[in-house]
Amino acid sequence: HRLVVLGGGESGVGAALLGQKKGYDVFVSDKGKIKDNYKEVLIHNEIEWEEEQHTESKILNADIVMKSPGIPDKAPLVKQIRDKGVLVVSEIEFASKFTTATIVGITGSNGKTTTATLTHHLLKQELEVGLAGNIGDSFAKQVLEKNHPNYVLEISSFQLDDIIGFKPKIAVLTNITPDHLDRYDYQFENYIISKFRIAENQTKEDYLIYDADDEAIVNHLKKHPVQSTLLPFSLVKTIENGACLDKENIKITIDNNQIIMPTAKLALEGKHNIKNAMAASTVAHLLKIRKQTIRESLENFQGVEHRLEHVVKINKVQYINDSKATNVNATYYALESMDAPTVWIVGGVDKGNNYEELFSFVNEKVKAVICLGVDNEKLIDTFGNMVDVIVETQYMSEAVKIAYKIAEAGDNVLLSPACASFDLFENYEDRGRQFKNAVRNL
Ligand code: ADP
Repeated sequence: HRLVVLGGGESGVGAALLGQKKGYDVFVSDKGKIKDNYKEVLIHNEIEWEEEQHTESKILNADIVMKSPGIPDKAPLVKQIRDKGVLVVSEIEFASKFTTATIVGITGSNGKTTTATLTHHLLKQELEVGLAGNIGDSFAKQVLEKNHPNYVLEISSFQLDDIIGFKPKIAVLTNITPDHLDRYDYQFENYIISKFRIAENQTKEDYLIYDADDEAIVNHLKKHPVQSTLLPFSLVKTIENGACLDKENIKITIDNNQIIMPTAKLALEGKHNIKNAMAASTVAHLLKIRKQTIRESLENFQGVEHRLEHVVKINKVQYINDSKATNVNATYYALESMDAPTVWIVGGVDKGNNYEELFSFVNEKVKAVICLGVDNEKLIDTFGNMVDVIVETQYMSEAVKIAYKIAEAGDNVLLSPACASFDLFENYEDRGRQFKNAVRNL
């Protein structure tokens, strides 16, 4: 059997190794450059590979093609492969064939990494469990090397686009807001359908945990019911089976078995994190983690880098790194959670942003806006009349210095860009680290 892997990144190389172990004749092809560390792995394992080209003759005779999530379906080569009737799968699909582990699959537009990391944190107290997907070592590599009995997987819509039989025992759908629409013919509906594929192979014995306050999710479910047992969570509704608020507590009920957790004790701040905690604890409750363990783990969770990460306090000013906020909705929750006057650093590559939903928070909480991008015009036009101070820069160190000058005791300085990072930085991690370095150098 011949396995062709398109894309020599983390998931591609993981799938190549797993495929080889399972007896496939493997070929890895990447149109760009393959990173040195991955090349070494391929060479060491005597896996055939090429970079900066796709040799069609070597690709089109595949029995199965594993396509990395970064490669769009519209790529001509992918179309050619499909036209030939060759099976195209994602790494999640491929790797799941080789494990009988219990899988928790987490998808959504925002909150995937936070919820997946938190869920893993709760489960690992009492279970042997791997964390994979878009985080850390690829799922395929872990299936090959670790063979955990349980996995928490962070799953993007691109990974879901190429599943066939993939079936998580527990699926989590954090929320659905417009994102990545360029890959979905600019149709929000297509993107929603893609996200819901997380549940397409589930039966009554499996669970779908979802945000019942999210209109896109609720409307879709009404029109297209799923087989899964539903466990919704909500901040405003009363939920019989699932999670909701009861005064100041999170209340999770599954078949009359309840767990109560005061929201004040949650380690992570912000309403969105109450939702993430609800989703993660519902998973933990389903997998029979003890209530006391769930409560303690929610209290001591350290958070995830670049997500509302508290960096340091200088002169009673709190500096917060939310570099991962690469869309408006993520920044909405960041601003919502600000409990003090805020100097807001925003900007980067605009993805057709509509900032309207931020207006009331900006009026209420933001004392100064620092625009940090190659092109700041839209931000200045949008927020110029709303705040006393608006400045622009193309350097992180300068942005932080300006913020330092403006902020007074008791204020927050928040980096929450609502934009992609590629104009000035390598990626959002680079942006976040530069922010933290600049803050520490003050
Ligand atoms: P993802 O992995 O889906 O990109 P992350 O957990 O990395 O999500 O969080 C990305 C951004 O979204 C962060 O800025 C964070 O503050 C915000 N966020 C986290 N959880 C939620 C949520 N449930 N709803 C909306 N925004 C969220």
